[in-house]
Amino acid sequence: MSVLVFADSSEGKFKKTAFEVVSYGKKVAEQLGTTIVVLTINATDSSELHAYGAEKIITVSNESLGTFNAKQYASIVTEVAKQHTATVVVLDSSIDGLYLAPIVAVNLEAGYASNTVSLPSSTSPFTVKRKAFSNKAFSDTVIATETKVIGLAKNSFGIHENTTTGSSEVFEPTIIELGVLSEKVKRVTGTVTIADADVVVSAGRGLKGPENWGMIEELASVLGAATACSKPVSDLGWRPHSEHVGQTGKPVASNLYIAIGISGAIQHLAGVNASKVKVVVNTDPEAPFFKAADYGIVGDAFEVVPKLIEKLKAFKQV
Ligand SMILES: Cc1cc2nc3c(=O)[nH]c(=O)nc-3n(C[C@H](O)[C@H](O)[C@H](O)COP(=O)(O)OP(=O)(O)OC[C@H]3O[C@@H](n4cnc5c(N)ncnc54)[C@H](O)[C@@H]3O)c2cc1C
Repeated sequence: MSVLVFADSSEGKFKKTAFEVVSYGKKVAEQLGTTIVVLTINATDSSELHAYGAEKIITVSNESLGTFNAKQYASIVTEVAKQHTATVVVLDSSIDGLYLAPIVAVNLEAGYASNTVSLPSSTSPFTVKRKAFSNKAFSDTVIATETKVIGLAKNSFGIHENTTTGSSEVFEPTIIELGVLSEKVKRVTGTVTIADADVVVSAGRGLKGPENWGMIEELASVLGAATACSKPVSDLGWRPHSEHVGQTGKPVASNLYIAIGISGAIQHLAGVNASKVKVVVNTDPEAPFFKAADYGIVGDAFEVVPKLIEKLKAFKQV
């Protein structure tokens, strides 16, 4: 019996969610009185994961796995889960994780709890808390199958250092025939991706036009943040579709989400309200976003944002 965690990486480097799922998996293993096994694919330095509780690390290195493919990756997770008689498999809730987890669950005939936000409140019956109804509610979910697959929501458990000594083992997986192959993936975003960002600076139609995004990019750069936008902004071609966040765009669960000139329509909020602290800048004091905001500035973005940049730059020099 074991808890298997898949620690995802990109271009050899672990995503931040990898440290979170390992921290979580370690605690679940402790609850179950068992060990944690961590699987990595093409990561440069898997030993980093010992700092977050990884005991046994299974490393896979194979050039043909350079680009994520859900069917292939799921087959590897399944193989390792069976070899280590994993009763719980933990994955992140990134876009890749959301493709991967249901296939793994089907392969293992396991129950799957997506968007999980807590450690099991009980291990018998195995019960976890999940986000429901576009993050508007929580549901206590019992997974009754022998094997359980958990998709951990980003930033819900946190990264916890828990230095553990352990072993590392190389694994040669079965490479399966794929109908669809991605040859090359070209990144469309800048240095900080929305998925990995701690801070996201997002702007909407209140910015009036694409020519005004210089100040948004500057604010993002001062904060080391990713840039995002509302749906109409990307529909209008003011910003790339990769920046569209919300119910039909990318989900955001950052530590800080700054919304500038965005009204806060329900479809926008559905995708961003998992962020820990939300700051809203809007000229209209009745804008719905203020109800969801932790901090609100009623003001004109064209006056507020340059002042914010100036103050932040001065603060950073102190
Ligand atoms: C099925 C469906 C799915 C959808 N999915 C999404 C989604 O995933 N993401 C998403 O964003 N939307 C989505 N939408 C659209 C959503 O309903 C809203 O229309 C959209 O979010 C509004 O974008 P906005 O806030 O940028 O624009 P607006 O609604 O036009 O709001 C602009 C805001 O800027 C403020 N403003 C104006 N000038 C200034 C200024 N100078 N300084 C500061 N503030 C100013 C205004 O007061 C206003 O509140 C979806 C809609 C549908 C029907």
